[in-house]
Amino acid sequence: MSAPDGLPPLRAVLAEYGLDPKKALGQNFLLDLNLTGRIARQALPLAGCSVVEIGPGPGGLTRALLANGAEHLTVIEKDSRCLGALAAIAAHYPGRLTAIEGDALKTDVAAFAEGRPLKIVANLPYNIGTQLLLDWVAVPSWPPVWSEATLMFQREVAERIVAKPGTSHYGRLAVLCGWRTKASILFDVGPEAFTPPPKVTSSVVQLHPLAEPIDVPLEALEAVTAAGFGQRRKMLRQSLKPLGGEALLLRADISPQRRAETLSVEEFCRLAALL
Ligand code: SAM
Repeated sequence: MSAPDGLPPLRAVLAEYGLDPKKALGQNFLLDLNLTGRIARQALPLAGCSVVEIGPGPGGLTRALLANGAEHLTVIEKDSRCLGALAAIAAHYPGRLTAIEGDALKTDVAAFAEGRPLKIVANLPYNIGTQLLLDWVAVPSWPPVWSEATLMFQREVAERIVAKPGTSHYGRLAVLCGWRTKASILFDVGPEAFTPPPKVTSSVVQLHPLAEPIDVPLEALEAVTAAGFGQRRKMLRQSLKPLGGEALLLRADISPQRRAETLSVEEFCRLAALL
């Protein structure tokens, strides 16, 4: 029996192509097309956009993106075993899906925009999710080519992305994402939704690039957040010593006795601008 999109159910796809999940590739598959449809709909409208999906695996989210109107979808998958399943989806939606075997960490997604607004949608492999997000946020020039990213992370990572100052999850990731994007958690997905189930809850996060983030050099902001959060329990006059310590803080009108986790994104930018 086929699924509502006319393709085989995802469990049959796993069996047909021998896709037993590999932990090293962060393979926790979503086999419920209702759920992948819910994720895809967060990225609407898809028509008229270029869409990039990282790690399509057997194609549950890929199919949902196509069923919800994606006309120019590029998927990047490291596991060559998935390519047969993806080719079958491409044949079902002629001219709309390009599957690339490759490493997303070495792929510049901007290359797939082709003059259209670019949306990134993915159930990311948990082991490289943070690195990929930082690659997309810490690009040399801003605004980036992508106009929206809808991404599944482990809940704990999602909380670190959207964290506010003074909370335990607030750190380098929140400052960099808060500086250049508006990020929000859309909904949680329990472990039971995945095959195999991970140990923790996941969350879908959506990010939109800010048109005009505070104008400071990326390297300076990275340096000040790395130093501050590298020793987050210490007062800033101590943790920022290599960058100018107390004198730098006083010039930025920030008390040297404060700790990194109490500083707003704007205050980090003030420090970065003085480096
Ligand atoms: N999108 C599918 C789903 O929702 O069922 C699979 C998601 S699974 C969490 C992550 C996928 O990313 C796997 O298919 C895995 O093979 C792929 N992957 C892992 N590392 C990758 C990398 N460096 N580049 C591209 N894909 C990668």
